Amino acid sequence: MNDSQKRIEEHIEALSQFTATPGQGTTRLTYSKEDLQARQYIKEKMKEYGLQVREDGLGNIFGRLEGTLQDAPSVLIGSHFDSVPNGGSYDGPAGVVAGLEVAALFAKNNIKPKYPLEVIALIEEEGSRFGGGLMGSRGIAGVLSEEDFQNLTDQDGVTTVEAMAGIGLDSSLPKKRDPKTMKAYLELHIEQGPILEEKGIPIGMVEAIVGLTQLEITVEGKAGHAGTTPMDRRTDALVAAAKMIAQLPEIALSEGEGSVVTTGRLHVFPNGANVIPSRTVFTVDIRSGKEEHILNMISQVQQLVDSYNAFGIKTSVQQQLYMAPKAMNPEIISLLKEKCGELDIPYCSINSGAGHDAMVFSDVTDVAMLFIPSKDGLSHCPEEWSDSQDIANAVHILYEAAKTLTEAE
Ligand SMILES: [Zn+2]
Repeated sequence: MNDSQKRIEEHIEALSQFTATPGQGTTRLTYSKEDLQARQYIKEKMKEYGLQVREDGLGNIFGRLEGTLQDAPSVLIGSHFDSVPNGGSYDGPAGVVAGLEVAALFAKNNIKPKYPLEVIALIEEEGSRFGGGLMGSRGIAGVLSEEDFQNLTDQDGVTTVEAMAGIGLDSSLPKKRDPKTMKAYLELHIEQGPILEEKGIPIGMVEAIVGLTQLEITVEGKAGHAGTTPMDRRTDALVAAAKMIAQLPEIALSEGEGSVVTTGRLHVFPNGANVIPSRTVFTVDIRSGKEEHILNMISQVQQLVDSYNAFGIKTSVQQQLYMAPKAMNPEIISLLKEKCGELDIPYCSINSGAGHDAMVFSDVTDVAMLFIPSKDGLSHCPEEWSDSQDIANAVHILYEAAKTLTEAE
């Protein structure tokens, strides 16, 4: 094990101690005592690696290595350091630790960049305390307004401003960051899925963060007695819904390129064991890395549902959410691939099925993401685990890419 991997393990281990649920995974809610402890650790390490540390009006942490060019935009590397309740030690921290280690290597090798290097540790990506998620990056991108930020409360009615003050943070500092001050944002994250592990490939080159839509389908039939209504006289809303749901996987499979569709919620009315269902409402969650696939699947689902509009069944489709896929920056992807080649580290292209801060940053700067394998594909649970060797590999790639992007000597 080299020094890099050793430091990575130390950081992951140290951060995992800052949990509200010891022995039951990482629970680190934004602006909590554990947030403060993790924050102090991250800031201390940033200083140790020669970075200038500051926090913004959201409590995001920035550690900056100044460049030799005047007023040049920064190359940002990092991720988030909050967690879901009873989550793992890697979702978020792996990327923050990768940023710290890139800075450590810059310091150790006395690298002088032309463009500033900034390690970034973001708050409230998971939305576990204030809902919504991606709060740190949305604030930086200016998508979250000051008013909306101040109106957010946790489940105990504590406001963001009060919670920040509680751990000594100043919410009056600026939140939005001028896009001109950012040259690129790089994020390492655990895959949170089984693909890399199954393929035995240590690096996933993220091509896109998938877009998604959620549809709500309502099927109206007619209630009736389960015993006295003959089979040929029924207008069963659940039987119709079940037939539709059973055909959804084929829509995603024929669309291909990793497109997925899921029904995760189904409500049956009146929901009595001896009553023919009069109404069912179910969700259809559609995701793909390419917008054309999402739009195609929406129209196919619509056609499928419409085709059941007969024999007393009435259907309707409501779109509840739409988020377009976000492509990563092709030039930075090529740069990262080039570095993988030079370092002889195998990689494969992959789409991110989950949302990440990189998605928000992609609207304001050039973005790229690397994935590393997740053991058994697990995340958001105490069993979440990734190999520090894989993190060290990714750090090596990011370090080389950061030297190129910051035009380091
Ligand atoms: Zn995450």
